[in-house]
Amino acid sequence: MTTVNPLYRPRRLRRNTAIRQLVQENFFSLNDLIHPIFIEEGLTEAIQLKTLPGVYRYPESQLEAEVKELAALGIKYIMPFGISHHKDSIGSDTWSDEGLLARMIKTIRKAAPDMIIIPDICFCEYTDHGHCGVLCEHGYVNNDETIANLGKQAVTAARAGADMLAPSAMMDGQITAIREALDEAGFEHVSILAHAIKFSSAFYGPFREAVNSELSGNRNAYQADYANGRQAMIEAELDEAEGADILMVKPGTPYLDLVARLRQQTNLPVAVYQVGGEYAAIKFAALAGALDEKAVVKETMIGFKRAGADIIVSYYTKQIAEWLRDGEIDSLSK
Ligand SMILES: [Zn+2]
Repeated sequence: MTTVNPLYRPRRLRRNTAIRQLVQENFFSLNDLIHPIFIEEGLTEAIQLKTLPGVYRYPESQLEAEVKELAALGIKYIMPFGISHHKDSIGSDTWSDEGLLARMIKTIRKAAPDMIIIPDICFCEYTDHGHCGVLCEHGYVNNDETIANLGKQAVTAARAGADMLAPSAMMDGQITAIREALDEAGFEHVSILAHAIKFSSAFYGPFREAVNSELSGNRNAYQADYANGRQAMIEAELDEAEGADILMVKPGTPYLDLVARLRQQTNLPVAVYQVGGEYAAIKFAALAGALDEKAVVKETMIGFKRAGADIIVSYYTKQIAEWLRDGEIDSLSK
């Protein structure tokens, strides 16, 4: 039998709650969380998503009331996704001042003047083929025509009142195109939360239902290959060089190594997007009684922070805000 007499015993700092709190390294609060929301044209009532229980598609007529409720819960950051019923081959509704994107932003601004509005900037919910831009032959997306259109969409969103834009199309040069278009139009104060490393991932499955995606095929020709970490770092370097203000990794849980690497590589804020499949995995396991949902959600959020994320986009944001309000989870921050 060996006798162990360690000089340093880590358990000394885990002895009771007060000591654990004293040395706690990572926290999260509503100051870190962005709430994604789906708004569909033509709906008359909110629809709960089968693949994302607890998440809804809202009609435009309910958006104002919903945003007021979010603001009252203390939610400060919102990421609207529009589901268009005016689709065409290029997604031109997105750069109309009367289009869904512009209308959503104006409604949110009216409902909650202080809410930070960060719309998704892409075409996949506005094109009849479901791809993230202008399609050429064999399902290949034309990069340079698409980024010119992204510039138009970005200016329209800024004119409607967006504070920050979240381009997600994964086109080369899209941050430059958007930054230049914004600056030319006098929106140099509008910032860019870049989907810097967005992987082509099966974890988006539930999102496709959420936005009624028309996509046939896949996005492997523009979204990042999940087998490649170094290539992903190049994507992030490019977005930083092109003027992105915040760099995001998406999805989150299977890619925490890249959140940690990105934290080392950049001094910009780092964001992570906990996508639909990650949400669904926890939610359905909890509904089946296999997981303690609140404990697992808290552990996941802290895990994102520990990996290096400053900001988390999560479908759990509203539920976390409600749990906090109702005292159903103890203090998430110290
Ligand atoms: Zn897209």
